[in-house]
Amino acid sequence: MTGDVILRAEGLKKYYPIKTGVIRRTTGHVRAVDGVSFELLRGETLGVVGESGCGKSTLGRMLMRLEEPTEGTLNFDGADVYSLKGEDMRRLRRDIQIVFQDPYTSLNPRKTVGDIIGEPFEIHPDVVPKAGRRKRVQELLEQVGLSPEHINRYPHQFSGGQRQRIGIARGIALNPKVLICDEPVSALDVSVQAQVINLLEKLQNELNLSYVFIAHDLSVVRHISDRVAVMYLGKIAELGDDAQIYDHPTHPYTQALLSAVPVPDPETTRNRHQIVLQGDVPSPANPPSGCRFHTRCWRAQPICSTTEPQLVEHDDGHGTHRSACHFAEPFVPAS
Ligand code: SF4
Repeated sequence: MTGDVILRAEGLKKYYPIKTGVIRRTTGHVRAVDGVSFELLRGETLGVVGESGCGKSTLGRMLMRLEEPTEGTLNFDGADVYSLKGEDMRRLRRDIQIVFQDPYTSLNPRKTVGDIIGEPFEIHPDVVPKAGRRKRVQELLEQVGLSPEHINRYPHQFSGGQRQRIGIARGIALNPKVLICDEPVSALDVSVQAQVINLLEKLQNELNLSYVFIAHDLSVVRHISDRVAVMYLGKIAELGDDAQIYDHPTHPYTQALLSAVPVPDPETTRNRHQIVLQGDVPSPANPPSGCRFHTRCWRAQPICSTTEPQLVEHDDGHGTHRSACHFAEPFVPAS
């Protein structure tokens, strides 16, 4: 990690209109992403975690400009992403790539692995000359731990973990600077998850990649993330270094997610106080007033339902990190 910022999001919002009636009148908005700001440092991994429906995948697509923002800016390596056009936009498509969640559906079953991994070269022919593409695909297969001899096989001839390796090979084919990993291991068995995460770490070191690693489970991002952003209903609830988030979380939502993470030691599991969140995540079309978490927060006070807490820096003696809670402090919930 070099410490310089490669990607900076400021006040990103994505609202989808809700249309009803015969004339499809807009009667409201789903606020999928609602004012998200962060920076990604060159060579680091930022984990983005939250329950389903918290906006993390929409955010991932916005970082690739697969979605235009309702509001906000995104700066990549000094360029204003949402105003790029023509060749500059094409360049961005090379520099920011994505690995999708489901290796079973994200690969075309009728294409060989060679065609799948080589597909980006059809769109960006200047990266590798036609004559050298087969060799480059074989190198990529080797780089992700697959046999170059399998270049003519089809996706169904591979296991789930191997298919995700194929997806990763396609993701790094154009030598990107940033890889958006959208739940890349969620569909895999736990033992295979660790192998794919190890591969991503190896590639990061070899290629100086920066990752935004999206997951719904804090335990998945623990080993790979340098920093973690915890999202709730379209907003960041807490953002900090890996150690701060896992060892000294200050936001009640982060504490609840952590209390549900399985630990290998049965004694620790027995003695641990698990925080059970009541109810489902409220609708992003009609988020609660004040703090969006107040309908499920066991620490809520009257101010929480009227005044929205801002994501501000706290120094709790364990370093500085950002938390959006009126009562942000490290605490152990009473048992
Ligand atoms: Fe809970 Fe209030 Fe903090 Fe929101 S602001 S997380 S409701 S204590």
